[in-house]
Amino acid sequence: MISGDARRTVLRRGSRKGPAKLGVCPLCGRTLLDPEIDHMQPISRQGTDFAENLWVICRRCNRTKRTQTRYEFELRMSES
Ligand SMILES: [Zn+2]
Repeated sequence: MISGDARRTVLRRGSRKGPAKLGVCPLCGRTLLDPEIDHMQPISRQGTDFAENLWVICRRCNRTKRTQTRYEFELRMSES
């Protein structure tokens, strides 16, 4: 479970700089209409619920990413 503190940290961080710039999805570059907090390293693959492992991406990317890591997903995006 993502704690309220971690959630707030990620959303606050996203409003300025960092991996999750709120307003634009860092993965697809589209406007974040449905921002969702995602685990860069999925929980099912030993990821944590700490803010360092969380970022904000759009719902669409979140659904596509599933249990891939952030790096696997970015690699796949750059190949297609
Ligand atoms: Zn996206």
